Amino acid sequence: MQPQLRTTPAEKQSNALASSRKADARRRGNRSDYYAAYNRERGDTWKARAGTPEYKARQAVARAVKSGRLVRPDFCSRCDVSCKPEGHHHDYSKPLEVEWLCDDCHEDKHRKVA
Ligand SMILES: [Zn+2]
Ligand SMILES: [Zn+2]
Repeated sequence: MQPQLRTTPAEKQSNALASSRKADARRRGNRSDYYAAYNRERGDTWKARAGTPEYKARQAVARAVKSGRLVRPDFCSRCDVSCKPEGHHHDYSKPLEVEWLCDDCHEDKHRKVA
């Protein structure tokens, strides 16, 4: 009876490939991966990340609030809790049409959609 070898040449090669890819990411300083992992850990994967449509829409809201085009209420439009609500978008192509929601309600919205 022949003893079975645990590591086949093919396995050795794929291991080498994986570690070189990891080194690659380190060299480039892969920040987006870092933030994605950070968001996953905190459980708020829905939160807008730079470059996403929601992120751009929220930037537009922030600018509009600053310039006075949009008025941010000081309560949640869903549960009426007094807070500094976030603008939730139903359609990112209409960045200034938002529903003002507290953190909890906003998170809820995204959980249901996702
Ligand atoms: Zn939202
Ligand atoms: Zn609320």
